[in-house]
Amino acid sequence: MTDQNELVDAAKNALTISDRLRAVERLTDQNALAEVAIYAKDDSVCKEAVYRLTDQNALTKIAIHAGYDVNREAVKRLTDQNALAKVAIHPRYHNGGVHWEAFERLTDQNELVDVAMHSTNDHVRSEAVEKLTDQNALVKVAIHAPDHSVRWKAVERLTDQNALAKVFMHDATDYTVRCIAMKKLTDQNELVDVAKNARSKYVRRDAMKKITGQSLLIEVAKYANYCDACEEAMKKITDKHLLDDIAKMNSNSSHDWDGCQCRRCGETRSEFHDWDGCKCRRCGETRNEQHDWDGCYCKRCDKDRHDWDWPNTWLAVCQRCGREEEDDPTGYR
Ligand SMILES: [Zn+2]
Ligand SMILES: [Zn+2]
Ligand SMILES: [Zn+2]
Ligand SMILES: [Zn+2]
Repeated sequence: MTDQNELVDAAKNALTISDRLRAVERLTDQNALAEVAIYAKDDSVCKEAVYRLTDQNALTKIAIHAGYDVNREAVKRLTDQNALAKVAIHPRYHNGGVHWEAFERLTDQNELVDVAMHSTNDHVRSEAVEKLTDQNALVKVAIHAPDHSVRWKAVERLTDQNALAKVFMHDATDYTVRCIAMKKLTDQNELVDVAKNARSKYVRRDAMKKITGQSLLIEVAKYANYCDACEEAMKKITDKHLLDDIAKMNSNSSHDWDGCQCRRCGETRSEFHDWDGCKCRRCGETRNEQHDWDGCYCKRCDKDRHDWDWPNTWLAVCQRCGREEEDDPTGYR
């Protein structure tokens, strides 16, 4: 009896425990061992299977899905940081807290970013932010974490001035994150960079408020990518001659609107759009009316309109296009 499938069967179902253990001892195939570790009924058989495993993917699967105690043996054998992160991301109820054991051994900053953003346990997510020290990793979390409390915690841990400026350069959309970052951003050169280049006019305005030196204001007035920052800087420059020079350089420092968009700097405003159905021809802004439907999807913007029905409680199916979703797409159930 050398066939691995038969050995799996014996490990799970042989009459005596010694036969079941003997079967495991002859198993070599990593997937077969994983199957025994998860589904065999005796803990000793399951653990024997785990001791024979080295494959990190199989061990990860066991750490997540096997019963209490067997999962712990699997975590002990995990060495790969990515595998440990997976266990920390998918804690199961009644797993005896093995996700914490995996988490404690995590040090890789990129994997910790993943855990901070995606673990299904909010306590794990929060602790992952505590373990992050790499400033660029923290910027990523402050901008992209789906959970707001994680984003706020990440921005609180930012100290590096260049990293704080990056929060604005990468267009953080969370208002609180931006407020915290702006409060901590004091380096005048970084502030000049933000005032000149940040895509949000509110961010540019807030940065301008914190810039004081005349030479820095001149830098903004001359080289800002957006008219509003130039205009604001010129208001604060006191030297008349310099102002004349700058005015010669930028014939006009305020926006030159062409409908919704400035001809000079490309900034947009939320009026005077040139609507083509649901989308503005000039700036690409969309509105939730006059869509051009092709089945369930708008041909112009990325809006969809499925017609959900529930053939059973856990599966929603669109009656128009057949799309299936397990989570409730309407938010009603
Ligand atoms: Zn402009
Ligand atoms: Zn527009
Ligand atoms: Zn549309
Ligand atoms: Zn549909």
